[in-house]
Amino acid sequence: MDMAETRHFRQLRGALVADAPLARYTSWRAGGRAQLLFLPADRDDLAVFLRQLPPAMPLTVLGLGSNTLVRDGGIAGAVVVTHSPGAALAVADGLIYADAAVASPKLARFAAIHGCAGAEFLAGVPGTVGGALAMNAGCYGGETWTYVVRVEVLTRAGVFEVRTPADYRIGYRSVHRADGAPPDGIFTAAWFRFPPGDAAAARARIRELLARRIAAQPLDQPNAGSVFRNPPGDHAARLIESCGLKGFAIGDAQVSAKHANFIVNPRRTARAADIEALIFHVQRVVRERTGVLLEPEVRIIGARAQEGE
Ligand SMILES: Cc1cc2nc3c(=O)[nH]c(=O)nc-3n(C[C@H](O)[C@H](O)[C@H](O)COP(=O)(O)OP(=O)(O)OC[C@H]3O[C@@H](n4cnc5c(N)ncnc54)[C@H](O)[C@@H]3O)c2cc1C
Repeated sequence: MDMAETRHFRQLRGALVADAPLARYTSWRAGGRAQLLFLPADRDDLAVFLRQLPPAMPLTVLGLGSNTLVRDGGIAGAVVVTHSPGAALAVADGLIYADAAVASPKLARFAAIHGCAGAEFLAGVPGTVGGALAMNAGCYGGETWTYVVRVEVLTRAGVFEVRTPADYRIGYRSVHRADGAPPDGIFTAAWFRFPPGDAAAARARIRELLARRIAAQPLDQPNAGSVFRNPPGDHAARLIESCGLKGFAIGDAQVSAKHANFIVNPRRTARAADIEALIFHVQRVVRERTGVLLEPEVRIIGARAQEGE
């Protein structure tokens, strides 16, 4: 990648960097580089970028990279990292509007302060609203799409569209187009309707849920939350622990000794290849010993490193 590709783009307000390391943009703090990294200033800036993106150039979207493993060989094409600390939150017509670039815990606190119930679960999901929409993030009985009234999507061609939940097939940690069309576009905003609640009660619930997480999850070590989806009627963590895999390591990647469905990178030195090998080692051992095939919840993207890299 040479600088020529960054010079192709005009009138961008955000940062555009060629050959940029991505580890700092993922919660695992591991993985390779982006051929071209764009940090849009806002939704309109992202639209300006997409309208100039050559159609043949692959496009990858990251929010806070809290559910994503980027392989060591990095990502070809453009990577857009949407998270923006200044992104907008507002109350409008009885709905809560959130830019997709907002961090989900911020949305949870905003909803609580504005007397809404139901958003508390998002306080402990350390991604963006866009990532929560893409994943249908959920926990403690709450799920993102339960509260979505409409979303704004920016297509690959750089055109904004407004869609409703009826346009999607929503499942457990899965969101597909209802008409079977391949996933397209980037979520840029959402309007939520949360039931009315009591601000003090919502804030107390947030504190309680965060305390439960601190007690149960290795939040002081880089991780990407639950690695595997829970199989129907069971818990991935229970199955992994029952196979004696807590603490098992490959290279510098380790199955957390605190929560068996977390893989941690305690020294920030793990290669993505170690993390990936550990994911599939755990999957294989659990399958052999229990008969259950655990399905990864984390998304693994990018190229494997070449020999000697
Ligand atoms: C400590 C910890 C605890 C967690 N707990 C939970 C939990 O309780 N429940 C839960 O569901 N998840 C949990 N997660 C996982 C993760 O936080 C969620 O999946 C989160 O919603 C991902 O958001 P993100 O912005 O980090 O997404 P990323 O990891 O950046 O991206 C995830 C996927 O979403 C896509 N995507 C991201 N932004 C957009 C966008 N704007 N438009 C279209 N696609 C987009 C990406 O292309 C990718 O495929 C946890 C993670 C950690 C580290």
